[in-house]
Amino acid sequence: MTNPYLAEWTTEFNLPPFADLTDEDVKPAVEAALSEGRAAIKAIADNPEAPTFANTIEALEKADATLSKVLGTFYGMAGADTNDTRDALMREFSPMLSAYSSEITANAALFQRIEALWQDRENLDLTDEQQRVLMLTRRSFVRSGAKLEGADKDRMAEIKSRLATLGTQFSQNLLADEREWFMELSEDDLEGLPQFVVDAARSAGEEKGAKGPVVTLSRSLITPFLQFSPRRDLREKAFRAWAARGENGNANDNREIAREILELREERAKLLGYENFAAYKLDTEMAKTPEHVRDLLMRVWAPAKEAAERDAAILSKMMAEDGVNGDLAPWDWRYYSEKRRKAEHDLDEAELKPYLQLDRMIEAAFTCANRLFGLEFEPLDVTTYHPGARAWNVTRNGKHMAVFIGDYFARGSKRSGAWCTAMRSQQKLEGDIRPIVLNVCNFAKPSKGEAALLSYDDARTLFHEFGHALHQMLSDVTYDSISGTSVARDFVELPSQLYEHWLEVPEVLEEFATHAETGAPMSRDMLERLLAAQTYDQGFATVEYVASALVDLEFHDGPAPKDPMKAQVEILAKIGMPKAITMRHATPHFAHIFSGDGYSSGYYSYMWSEVMDADAFEAFEETSPFDPVMAKRLEEHILSKGGSEDAEALYTAFRGRMPGVEALLKGRGLVAAE
Ligand SMILES: [Zn+2]
Repeated sequence: MTNPYLAEWTTEFNLPPFADLTDEDVKPAVEAALSEGRAAIKAIADNPEAPTFANTIEALEKADATLSKVLGTFYGMAGADTNDTRDALMREFSPMLSAYSSEITANAALFQRIEALWQDRENLDLTDEQQRVLMLTRRSFVRSGAKLEGADKDRMAEIKSRLATLGTQFSQNLLADEREWFMELSEDDLEGLPQFVVDAARSAGEEKGAKGPVVTLSRSLITPFLQFSPRRDLREKAFRAWAARGENGNANDNREIAREILELREERAKLLGYENFAAYKLDTEMAKTPEHVRDLLMRVWAPAKEAAERDAAILSKMMAEDGVNGDLAPWDWRYYSEKRRKAEHDLDEAELKPYLQLDRMIEAAFTCANRLFGLEFEPLDVTTYHPGARAWNVTRNGKHMAVFIGDYFARGSKRSGAWCTAMRSQQKLEGDIRPIVLNVCNFAKPSKGEAALLSYDDARTLFHEFGHALHQMLSDVTYDSISGTSVARDFVELPSQLYEHWLEVPEVLEEFATHAETGAPMSRDMLERLLAAQTYDQGFATVEYVASALVDLEFHDGPAPKDPMKAQVEILAKIGMPKAITMRHATPHFAHIFSGDGYSSGYYSYMWSEVMDADAFEAFEETSPFDPVMAKRLEEHILSKGGSEDAEALYTAFRGRMPGVEALLKGRGLVAAE
């Protein structure tokens, strides 16, 4: 019998035949797909004919068709519904797949063909999209070291492997420090804590085998503890332990690892001909240079710091009124800020929740997509990988556009967080291939017979992930490698963060935020309080974030610091970091930039995207949130384009200019709106 992963799928919309796929089939399918890929790569590299775009670049695009089909399906499922077998398979595949991709970029004959095409690109009569794919293909080879020879080539391989080891060690140390520490609480220490924090502390205590409730360093427990505990001594103790993760001088200390990582990154960038790691990393991003990033961060820094200082004065006063002597400290901020929030923006979560029903929020996301882009969503009666996942047929004017799978409830087999992934991407190289797009979230599952209710943050997550899904579903390019969300990291969050704005449109909330029992719409007063609460304490949030982003940038822009901890202190002193706020992630636990390469000298990108989404939504606000002309431009210049053009060109085509920071500052409440 044929392996069902490898067979031709004759199901409706060529969906994976989920019911037939077994975990035993995965490994043989991956092995077969890898051999097929290797044979295809060899045939391209050894082709006696002169290189052409079709026999080299297009052939490369097709080489991994089977591998993408198998991995797209398997990883899509395993992220949302794993088990021990699937976990073991993923661990086994990870080195196999990285060896495979290194093999391809190290194939000298293959690179020669690509380079020959690149040198001759003006004479090849390529479309713009083909030029772009050629450029990106060559660039990824060059950045992996394809042009290096001899000792440099060997050194590059050594650096990459050492960096991979150090990154893993960094995360494991951090986890160990987080696991080891906990603080026992007596029954008296629980006073003033809301029930959900007490419950969480009790169950954490059971998990740790303690006699009673405990506070751990898990963000979801320590943050509310710092917010609600009136005990300043306990807050200080917990905060200090939290801030010291990775620098306790024990076996889990990350300081030396961070230093070595920075040093190796610099060496790697220099081998590739860049001045430093930030220059190397940003070269392929929308920001392009460290100067552009610094400029953005500093333009946000000044108003954020001013707002934070105004807030600090208010909180200090509250603390003095509480009879506490001394300066406002980092372990005081969240506590007094929560008190102030209650006084100024009292918004009862329990009162709000019945208005945010999951099904109504899905409907809201669909309806906005319908009004903006004409998409229609029809429930599909198919078996997916899990009974908790629902599927829809997405059409426009009767044409099939995508299959959308929404998998919203938390379960033990799902990894935490929320994400969007495509089991299959849109492309036209091998027919009109339409995507299969997943949104996976971790919303609390309701008891039987009750409506699933969301928090406002949950609802925003739903819209966020749906924005990524639109980027996949509306994609209209020829080549898989530039399809949908295959864009620069500092551009990829634009469609998702932009879509969140439609949840904040009053007419959307008025229509879809209806009470689960009475069906009544949310009152105007509640709606206004809800929207006002979104900008609360943004001085603090912006300062802790921007400080981390600046430290990340300075670490990589220039020679690697000999002592990163000392460098961190100097950078913070230079920007005048407010005393009562610390970096959101200090160096020894800054996993975003040290556990791997993903966000190294790239932590800024969240804010870069926010600058764009605020500016882009303003384009709609200038006319109307559902302005058809703007919606058309958004689809034409951004959502349909994938990575087929440079991000700056795409944004400028949509907006007529590059974004400014004003809309972001207004959106975060850091300057007064006109
Ligand atoms: Zn996102």
